[in-house]
Amino acid sequence: MRHRIAVIGGGPAGLTFARVLHRHDHPVTVIERDPAPDARPPGGTLDLHEKLGQLALSKAGLLAEFQALSRPEGQAMRILDTDGTVLRDWRPRPDDRANPEIDRGQLRDLLLGPLDVRWGQRVTEVVPGTRDGVLVHFADGRQETFDLVVGADGARSRVRPAVSAATPHYTGVTLIETSLDDVDTRHPDLARLIGDGSVAVYGVNRALVAQRNSGGHVKVYAQFRAPLDWHTDLDRHVNQNRRAGMDASLDLADADAVRSSLLAMFDGWAAPVLDLLRHGTAFVHRPLYVLPVSHTWTHVPGVTLLGDAAHLMPPLGVGANLAMLEGAELAESVAAAPGPGDLDEGVRAFEEQMWARAGRWAKITAVGLERLVSPDPAEALALFDEVQPS
Ligand SMILES: Cc1cc2nc3c(=O)[nH]c(=O)nc-3n(C[C@H](O)[C@H](O)[C@H](O)COP(=O)(O)OP(=O)(O)OC[C@H]3O[C@@H](n4cnc5c(N)ncnc54)[C@H](O)[C@@H]3O)c2cc1C
Repeated sequence: MRHRIAVIGGGPAGLTFARVLHRHDHPVTVIERDPAPDARPPGGTLDLHEKLGQLALSKAGLLAEFQALSRPEGQAMRILDTDGTVLRDWRPRPDDRANPEIDRGQLRDLLLGPLDVRWGQRVTEVVPGTRDGVLVHFADGRQETFDLVVGADGARSRVRPAVSAATPHYTGVTLIETSLDDVDTRHPDLARLIGDGSVAVYGVNRALVAQRNSGGHVKVYAQFRAPLDWHTDLDRHVNQNRRAGMDASLDLADADAVRSSLLAMFDGWAAPVLDLLRHGTAFVHRPLYVLPVSHTWTHVPGVTLLGDAAHLMPPLGVGANLAMLEGAELAESVAAAPGPGDLDEGVRAFEEQMWARAGRWAKITAVGLERLVSPDPAEALALFDEVQPS
């Protein structure tokens, strides 16, 4: 039986779901608010774990293509003290394929392949239980019904309210993202500092992480503990190091002002580390939000959630991996369901499995964030020593 299936969101969760259904020859409508695949910068590199993201790609029949595109050398990780001393320098073995990196744009294009996505269609509301199925409302006023609507629409999901009243809350940690281009030719010293993978520096309630993407592109993440409105009162939150001439309130759209505030906030750190901020171009403000740990809901026939829509957690290297595996598993369950009752039973079973696994990771990443951006930087190092192979 061909069920009428819609997935809202063309991120890692939605595209993996659709691609696995496509492999099983089951039709699916993919709805994405972005007007085109490259409408906005795709974001930083992702490491796909063997038993999560890579397993999902294998279910989509895309593992070999992933292996050809991905960067196993990107698993390298160096940790520095704030004075620039190298504390740890992990390098992968040549045959290590546990967590290779891939650019998000490359992953998106790999998953998109032959999929037919309805770009530029923003969903505003999903209403389950109507006579003809689940009703989807669009921003342009149109409506459409389906047998199953899958909310893969990320942190601010518009599908989530159909099953759950939960909303994301601020973790107390803010991240500011910036980038460097052509690092090997324009900033060779920084290229050496970053190496093939990532470099991370942990201070008191502050962290700076730089990750190499392909093509000499580097993403830099400055992370710090601060109230949500920190940028409205720099005297109080950026501390005494505010430089002469800086306003007390920060315009987050002013790249020079954000750079100066970050340099004040990380004042005293080694010069090469601060160069990662000094040479950054655009700065994107990302306060980190999470859903409650172990977020579940009473099953609603015809609607379910995947990925960040279901279990937004701190960005500690697992969100996209879980999103993809869930997408693949739900697709297999849908493709195997002969009738409407079987479809609903399959979705229920999928949700139980997703909740259990995501709950475990939500706890791990919540504790991880506490330790990585912590008053005691030794905690961050101890965390890496626990999880990195020696
Ligand atoms: C800085 C940072 C670094 C990270 N690093 C990693 C990492 O290394 N490894 C890892 O596994 N995870 C990482 N993550 C987490 C990862 O990015 C997310 O968990 C993952 O993107 C979730 O995928 P998703 O498909 O559920 O949601 P998203 O990627 O958010 O995709 C949702 C899609 O839905 C669309 N959409 C939203 N609303 C609507 C609507 N109303 N109508 C139609 N479409 C809509 C959006 O445009 C988007 O395309 C990181 C996150 C951050 C912030």
